[in-house]
Amino acid sequence: MPEGPSIVILKEAVQQFAGHEIIAVSGNSKSGIDRLKDQTVIAFKSWGKHFLICFEEFTVKVHLLMFGTYRINERKENEPRLSMVFSNGELNLYTCSITFLEGDVNLHYDWSADVMNENWNPKAAKKKLKEFPQQMICDVLLDQNIFSGVGNIIKNEILYRTFVHPESLVGKLSAAKLTRIIKECSVYSFEFLEWKKVYELKKHWLAYTKKLCLRCDLPIQYKHTGSRKRRSFYCPNCQKLYL
Ligand SMILES: [Zn+2]
Repeated sequence: MPEGPSIVILKEAVQQFAGHEIIAVSGNSKSGIDRLKDQTVIAFKSWGKHFLICFEEFTVKVHLLMFGTYRINERKENEPRLSMVFSNGELNLYTCSITFLEGDVNLHYDWSADVMNENWNPKAAKKKLKEFPQQMICDVLLDQNIFSGVGNIIKNEILYRTFVHPESLVGKLSAAKLTRIIKECSVYSFEFLEWKKVYELKKHWLAYTKKLCLRCDLPIQYKHTGSRKRRSFYCPNCQKLYL
């Protein structure tokens, strides 16, 4: 599943269409995409894993789900979910979910929860975290209402960097440790963005899908952790379990 930084890359790649009118629309989406014809895109935004196409009176929310893809000024063989043709090119979206949000987009989103947004607020995240002392850190990091944009790769890399075992309980982590984890959510996401742009992301993984801990020279453990049962890769020797 694409994580926040991949959606930022998409948002940057389509800026050529901002301010342009849609002259033709097609696709197999059943959400009423015909209304997009003759509409002008005001802005492209992102909120975590949501790609947002903003118009005067409504916004199209695109979620790429597990296997969503897109093409700019080219097409794939299969039918797009949504295809938008502009006077200067076209944007085609595949295997994704398309939803309409009515009215001002700002009424639908808390931008301070997006770890890559200019309004990202680490203090607000810390406050929200404190409401879940009994939850495992591996679960809350994937909570999009707290850390919008953080996905499973980012989760694993942050916990490795901060020496925290994924099954640690939020309430048992010190304030300093929580601050560090929260900070890394944003820091790592921007590094992810830069590496992804130059096709070097995997090269920089320290824990995700790894076999050996670079710090200890001991095996990395692999386990589905927490109530979300997502894959965790961690070193039981240097990532401390806080219980
Ligand atoms: Zn280790």
